[in-house]
Amino acid sequence: MLTKLRSQFSRLWLKTWSLVFTEMSAQEIIWLLRPGSHISLLSTRRVSMIVSRVRLIAILFAILTPLWSLLDIWAFPPEIWHGLVAMRLIATAGFAALVLSLRKADDISPLGAYRALGFLLLIPTAFFLFSYLHMSQFNLHGLQEAFGVGYAYLPFVMLAGLSVFPLTAVESMGFAAPMLLAQVAAAILKLPILDWPTFAASFWLLMLITAVSALAGLSQLAFMIVLVREAMRDGMTGCFSHTSGAELLDLQFIISSRSGNPLSLVFLDLDHFKRVNDEFGHDAGDRVLTNAAEAIRGSVRTGDILVRWGGEEFVLIMPNTDARQATVAIERVRKAGLGNRPDGTPVTASIGIAERMVDARESWRQLMEMADTRMYEAKKGGRDRIVGPLATAGQ
Ligand code: GH3
Ligand code: MG
Ligand code: MG
Repeated sequence: MLTKLRSQFSRLWLKTWSLVFTEMSAQEIIWLLRPGSHISLLSTRRVSMIVSRVRLIAILFAILTPLWSLLDIWAFPPEIWHGLVAMRLIATAGFAALVLSLRKADDISPLGAYRALGFLLLIPTAFFLFSYLHMSQFNLHGLQEAFGVGYAYLPFVMLAGLSVFPLTAVESMGFAAPMLLAQVAAAILKLPILDWPTFAASFWLLMLITAVSALAGLSQLAFMIVLVREAMRDGMTGCFSHTSGAELLDLQFIISSRSGNPLSLVFLDLDHFKRVNDEFGHDAGDRVLTNAAEAIRGSVRTGDILVRWGGEEFVLIMPNTDARQATVAIERVRKAGLGNRPDGTPVTASIGIAERMVDARESWRQLMEMADTRMYEAKKGGRDRIVGPLATAGQ
């Protein structure tokens, strides 16, 4: 029942937002709704963005929260400001602790980012409830009343602040909910001495601000998705780019280690490519590169991942492929050819193959190093050949 309702909602979501974000695919629009199926590249970018913004806001609040005490001391009698300043100091300690906990923020998981953002919102939510509880004990007039009302605006500030985070719709609702509930709790406790139409009006406004914030978060996320999509591919050859290739390889290495399946890595460097540029110009060089990439893609399995690792260097990630199968596949690529140079001679490459299990490598970087070293051996051996873990095949 619940899953049916969920899929119905997803379909409705897709229909509505495809009209707004016309440049996005169906999969990407679902990414705007919830984070469950986000690809790892998007996930890591989002985590680092959320964490760096949490850190920035926490630093800002760690400075402003105690500073505001001066105004409290000026505006309120001691019996009021004592409590307020004490709460401000506790909140400041909370913000400072958050900043410190995010100091080494290179390796934070999505859960860690949620925790950081949740904690960032929790501090002012608690501060809001306690300050209201405290101030409701006093009868405020004039300037004091004006300052007291200022405290009631804290939820508005926090919910508007949510807009700086690239959150999915579900996440925005999840993070806004405690603040909205705190507002309801404050009303139930009759903490703000407000009549209920005034409360209803302010709650309305709070919900509208939440909706606008969520929309701002969605647009940020949409922008980020498009950027990630573009950064994933090398514009010229259509191969995966170096950054996304490294992430994919990292992922494939983990999957292969866990499952105990082989993983082959092939490093291809085109031979004497500089000569193409020198003799026929850069544009001709670009065409040769694009054709070579096209040729490699055409000769390997669809599950294999072709990365443009550098200028005229390609890396082929072959999941579930042992060294022997990889060698056979690469022989097939060589046989089909890598296209021709402008003078009609065939393009050749020096190729190094490494495999996780046969070469007993512990990380993808080690595996890459192995394949790279073998590619250099192939160069030294006379180019246009494969050097792999099993046997050296030459021509
Ligand atoms: P080797 O057989 O030893 O690999 O010789 P090579 O000439 O292929 O290797 P080298 O590293 O000396 O030169 C690589 C050249 O690739 C130099 C650089 O100008 C060219 N190159 C790199 N990226 C591009 C590109 O995007 N387009 C074009 N046209 N050339 C590129
Ligand atoms: Mg090179
Ligand atoms: Mg080369």
